[in-house]
Amino acid sequence: MKKHNFYAGPSILPQYTIEKTAEAVRDFAGTGLSIMEVSHRSKEFVAVMDEAVRLFKVLLNIPDGYSVLFLGGGASIQFAMIPFNLFKKKAAYLNTGAWSKKAIKEAQAFGDVEVIGSSEDKMFNYIPNFSIPKDVDYFHITTNNTIYGTEIKYDIDSPVPLVADMSSDIFSRPIDVSKYAIIYGGAQKNLAPAGVTFVIIKNDILGKVDRHIPTMLNYQTHIDKESMFNTPPVLPVFAALQTLNWLEDNGGVEAMHKTNVYKAELLYNEIDRNPLFRAAVVDLNDRSIMNICFVMKQGYEELEKPFFDFASGKGMIGIKGHRSVGGFRASTYNALPTESVEALIAVMQEFEENNK
Ligand code: PLP
Repeated sequence: MKKHNFYAGPSILPQYTIEKTAEAVRDFAGTGLSIMEVSHRSKEFVAVMDEAVRLFKVLLNIPDGYSVLFLGGGASIQFAMIPFNLFKKKAAYLNTGAWSKKAIKEAQAFGDVEVIGSSEDKMFNYIPNFSIPKDVDYFHITTNNTIYGTEIKYDIDSPVPLVADMSSDIFSRPIDVSKYAIIYGGAQKNLAPAGVTFVIIKNDILGKVDRHIPTMLNYQTHIDKESMFNTPPVLPVFAALQTLNWLEDNGGVEAMHKTNVYKAELLYNEIDRNPLFRAAVVDLNDRSIMNICFVMKQGYEELEKPFFDFASGKGMIGIKGHRSVGGFRASTYNALPTESVEALIAVMQEFEENNK
């Protein structure tokens, strides 16, 4: 039976990435050695790192004056690195979910954190309104809220340096990088296996704080050493490069965005139509095109487990909602084919027929 992979992360990757990485695990770049056993300072791997940085810049149209870094520590270590490097007196944060809250908690250790909007009152099922103060060192947002299925789908005009966690929507749409000071994320959704974290950083944002920054948490260390201060996650960086190649060969972020919008509309339309289900996010503007969350409609709650079992039996993998919110979540990342969305819709319709 064909499996349809809707996991939220780690999650589906292009078949191309998996095959090329599998080849390199056996024989990397004709060296006769596995990618897992070559030095990160070998000329073959340095070429991989350089090409990954170059393609990242090309695909996202990153202007001059920005660096692209591939680091360890997950998106979670960025929650601390950001205040270490940017926080002087005060920062603004938008609270749109569990990941935002973790970022806020880390920043609070550095001083005054102004939470300028929060959707916690409704289990984070919308994007709150906000107005950005001018007297803060930076403003932090989570563009796509993986757990709740909300997304800020445009590039905010900010009067202060804008910092964005794009763990689960990087490369899903074109972005205007010039509007951001830092964009970061774990790679394990749209890019690579877990283990590498990408950071796009505007170089001139640094050097403005007085504190001692631990060497590994200092962005300048990694900019100066081109992500080779210590051993980078070699295999995930190699896999990331394969996904970047795949993106380039498949029309880049514009083409991804078009297909992602199409896939998301197909599924949201079915959720809105099907009398058994309801979308977790009501406002169309706030609905994520990467993580589509839905629950059983009132009166059908007892069908949650039967639907999960039915869908799982038909090859739908990873559709359980996050443990903190329940219901269902279908993640529709770049590599997920439209065919998988159609298969899920067919399963929802068959279940509806069976439960009339
Ligand atoms: N931010 C967002 C939006 C996420 O979805 C995740 C993980 O799912 C994280 C941060 C945490 O990433 P990591 O596990 O790489 O630390």
